[in-house]
Amino acid sequence: MDPRARGVNEFDLIRRHFERAPKNKSALVGVGDDCALLRPDAGLELAITTDMLVEGRHFASGAEPRALGHKALAVNLSDLAAIGAAPRWALLAIGLPEADEAWLKAFAAGFFALAERFGVDLVGGDTTRAPQRTITITAMGEVPASVALYRAGARPGDDIWVSGELGGAALSLAHPEIAEVAKRLHEPEPRVELGERLRGMANAAIDVSDGLAGDLGHILERSRVGAVVEYSLIPRNSAFKEIKDPSLERDCVLSGGDDYELLFTAAPARRADLGALARELGLPLTRIGAIQSGEARLAVLDAKGKPMTFKSGFDHFA
Ligand code: ADP
Ligand code: MG
Repeated sequence: MDPRARGVNEFDLIRRHFERAPKNKSALVGVGDDCALLRPDAGLELAITTDMLVEGRHFASGAEPRALGHKALAVNLSDLAAIGAAPRWALLAIGLPEADEAWLKAFAAGFFALAERFGVDLVGGDTTRAPQRTITITAMGEVPASVALYRAGARPGDDIWVSGELGGAALSLAHPEIAEVAKRLHEPEPRVELGERLRGMANAAIDVSDGLAGDLGHILERSRVGAVVEYSLIPRNSAFKEIKDPSLERDCVLSGGDDYELLFTAAPARRADLGALARELGLPLTRIGAIQSGEARLAVLDAKGKPMTFKSGFDHFA
């Protein structure tokens, strides 16, 4: 850690807020030593992902710290889910302008509430003073050999499916007063169980962090296939019915980020299995289109079958 921050008694901060006994036997050493020591299960593959949240870029300086603790971990668990891994361990690197105990306490409460729900141990990290709050989490998970869900696995003829509903998080940016969608933006639910259950069922998967069009585009590029999606089939938040703003709705549903639903492709022979899985998980799974051979291009059709225009992708440097 940065020695200049040591004046605030960094080790007490870490001990008070982030040191908890590992729950998994596979974490041999956690917070408090030079490294975490993990014993992955023999025969499993290790999935590792990292995501950074920067104040002023990914969250406002007044953001509620409990929700932030949840979201910082949730976006990483969502990446693990998208590859079909079961989450196990996390590292937390955090930069703060000051040692704000109340803020840290609330942040840790949000983080650990989600971590415990999915059996994730916080096994280490780094803490430093920084000009603005920065939160970087590295999450690790396990997946049995050769069943991970890649972006590159989509095949012509596959159905395209999405979990839950899209557009709510982006709608909340335009209409922060709608409480129901605010939760979608600030406390997304990572689709962990779904990701694990899609092993052997889905051919390709991705989590929707940057919008349907952009994220489906990643599957198309990696898989070298095209896709047709029917706009009217895309499941969306019921709040759109009251808003009655078709162009905002289109932007949120097709191009809005931060929903953290899973988007995946599967052979039509899997329809009945996926219907049963949706009922079992109590999570809607909706078929919105199909993969086609040819160029890696996405066509979104309106109710009359005409191609729609949409913004695709999200560029963090735009
Ligand atoms: P070192 O100087 O050896 O890198 P540090 O002083 O950075 O160690 O951290 C001390 C211990 O606390 C390490 O085990 C580290 O993994 C852990 N740690 C530091 N910050 C955090 C944090 N924010 N969350 C969890 N563990 C942390
Ligand atoms: Mg360190």
